[in-house]
Amino acid sequence: MSLPDARGYFGRYGGKFVPETVMGALAELERAYAEARADSSFWKEFESLCHDYVGRPTPLYPAQQLTAKLGGATILLKREDLAFTGAHKINNALGQGLLAKRMGKKRIVAETGAGQHGVAAATVCAQFNLECVIYMGEEDIHRQASNVFRMKLLGAEVHPVTAGSRTLKEAISEAIRDWVTNVKNTHFLLGSVVGPHPYPMMVRDFQSIIGQETKKQMLAKFQRLPDWIIACVGGGSNAIGIFSPFIEDKRVKLTGVEAAGRGLKMSQHAASLVEGRVGVIHGTKSYLLQDEHGQIMSTYSIAPGLDYPAVGPEHGYLKDSGRATYVTATDSQALEAFELLSKTEGIIPALEPAHAIYYAAKLATQLPPQTLMVVNLSGRGDKDLDIVWQALQENR
Ligand SMILES: *Cc1c(COP(=O)(O)O)cnc(C)c1O
Repeated sequence: MSLPDARGYFGRYGGKFVPETVMGALAELERAYAEARADSSFWKEFESLCHDYVGRPTPLYPAQQLTAKLGGATILLKREDLAFTGAHKINNALGQGLLAKRMGKKRIVAETGAGQHGVAAATVCAQFNLECVIYMGEEDIHRQASNVFRMKLLGAEVHPVTAGSRTLKEAISEAIRDWVTNVKNTHFLLGSVVGPHPYPMMVRDFQSIIGQETKKQMLAKFQRLPDWIIACVGGGSNAIGIFSPFIEDKRVKLTGVEAAGRGLKMSQHAASLVEGRVGVIHGTKSYLLQDEHGQIMSTYSIAPGLDYPAVGPEHGYLKDSGRATYVTATDSQALEAFELLSKTEGIIPALEPAHAIYYAAKLATQLPPQTLMVVNLSGRGDKDLDIVWQALQENR
């Protein structure tokens, strides 16, 4: 874990591309996190809440029925769907909530797209008694009414964002604006390994509890590390969380699966690493989906959590160095995997990790049973039932 460097770079990616007004707030956060990071009592409290509140460690489940059906490699599922609130996002929200308390901040602002991160942030704020303001695009507010209600139940204020495409991209910009204006009492709780330094490092550190547990569980169950780890990539936090403790273990293959949406040729996808070029968005340099004029492309995926035009800078570094490989799965492939896992294991996955399951299932058929493959099941599918129902109606 020697990266990023002191300036927040993972090779050529990362950094802090922000206006002067944001620099002060970032410097304060950087100092506070450096102190917390070196303080074992901070991690002790984090781990204790992960245990008592989130229900960690989450199981590493051998998917025997799925494995038998595919007739190839042994598939193990890291069950982040069983973490409190139903996905990995709570790990990061909890870590940053603790940091905000340590910094004496009484107010949290956060962005949300489909509402998953908003719900995780609102949950932690309720638990820590912090004021919570969630910025959410007006378009997303209409599409995700039940998550809006959940956030309000948890005591959060949901502010509609009406700029631009009225979705996640604008919600992030709006949350940063609020943060900088109210930085004295406010922390900005960013939801993935994106944004300016120190966010990509900090969010990775909190999410790496997924990979640390996986390593322990593999050694306890199999006395060895897995051959393959596969995770879906939106902003990249669940993937980096499970990859991170294995990066030095060069024999463990790491594969990230991005959303190919309706197909890469259709320009209706969110495959930033596979199809993007280097650019700057939300204060960081990374792979970014842009048109020939450098304008940020509009993205699309059936999985709300994968629908972001860029990706965390560390993934750019892992891609270029060849340490990790990035591939894609389409909407219909994700739906196929969604049904497959539901029927074979009785586990309804979120649409995001269904992309990873599709790729893992395809790969597994070409490999022998001794090959051990871990798939990060980043969340449960309850939130996606309406979307899937609609999609299956249209397909049949
Ligand atoms: C938000 C979300 C994702 C995508 O975010 P990452 O930062 O790429 O992990 C993936 N899975 C689930 C269940 C999510 O809620």
